[in-house]
Amino acid sequence: MKWTCLIITSFFLGGSFVPAPAKEKITVVIDPGHGGSDPGHLSSDKNHKPEKELNLIIAKKFGTYLQIYLNNVTVIYTRSDDSFPTLDDRVNVANSMGVDYFVSIHCNANERKTVHGTESHIHSMQSKSSLNLAKEFEKEFSTRAGRKSRGVKDSDDRTHSLQVLKYTHMTSVLVECGFLTNEKEAIYLNTDYGQDILASAIFRGFRSHITHEHPGIKFVKPVSNTNTPSSSSPSTTTTTKPTTNSTGKYHIQIMSSKEAIDTQSPEFKKLGLGVTRTKLNSNSAFKYRYTIGPYSDSESARRDLEKVKKNGFKDAYIINLSE
Ligand SMILES: [Zn+2]
Repeated sequence: MKWTCLIITSFFLGGSFVPAPAKEKITVVIDPGHGGSDPGHLSSDKNHKPEKELNLIIAKKFGTYLQIYLNNVTVIYTRSDDSFPTLDDRVNVANSMGVDYFVSIHCNANERKTVHGTESHIHSMQSKSSLNLAKEFEKEFSTRAGRKSRGVKDSDDRTHSLQVLKYTHMTSVLVECGFLTNEKEAIYLNTDYGQDILASAIFRGFRSHITHEHPGIKFVKPVSNTNTPSSSSPSTTTTTKPTTNSTGKYHIQIMSSKEAIDTQSPEFKKLGLGVTRTKLNSNSAFKYRYTIGPYSDSESARRDLEKVKKNGFKDAYIINLSE
């Protein structure tokens, strides 16, 4: 007790005790891997985009979600076009601006074409914040995006260090969104839909992490007409807007999913059509169906089907629910 008093007294007498001001906002550097003359990994399908392009697309979608849905988050990109900042440049951007988080976006490759799934890389398991953020990403990749999570890896697992993780001074995670050498995953990574879902998984993991780490910062924007790509406890059936005809029998089925996806999520909203989610009583892994409609005639359903397909839901089709 005596000692405690002594220490506290001398601390105050020194006049140097100024409590750190509470943080009011955070800054994240988003680093789309590769670029310019460095294409990164390639898919065996020549029509597919190289890794550098996919990284940039997913990175921008992630950054856009942050800007649309959260307050008090500043987003800085290491590149926003097809340029190639060196690894030193990327580290310097992160270290020079009082940045709180560094998220590098990549796609993977393996000699074995069967290998697929997502990975989140950190420098060391000792960095608790990086480890927790990486875990949040993998959780969302698995639940939100329905990908196979290959887990969190550090430099011991890889048997080498990654420069952008080793030398950045803040919470740093490098995500591998999937394997371009796996045929199915390469196709998924090349769809607008796949890119949206992956970016939204990264967004959700990031949001969970920062909300937990900074309880004093108000990240959530006041409710307006923008909902997050996320709400976790929606009712069984939700619709973004009333459909023009509620008596028709034709619907467009756009997708099904294992986990409930918010019908307000950007990938649905950009269709500009009301999306309805229905819980299925099925034994299959897919528990939810997403439809648009109803339409009284198949002709108008077909017109919207074209629009839906063009917007990334290439497998959408018309169903007749009266049958
Ligand atoms: Zn890469």
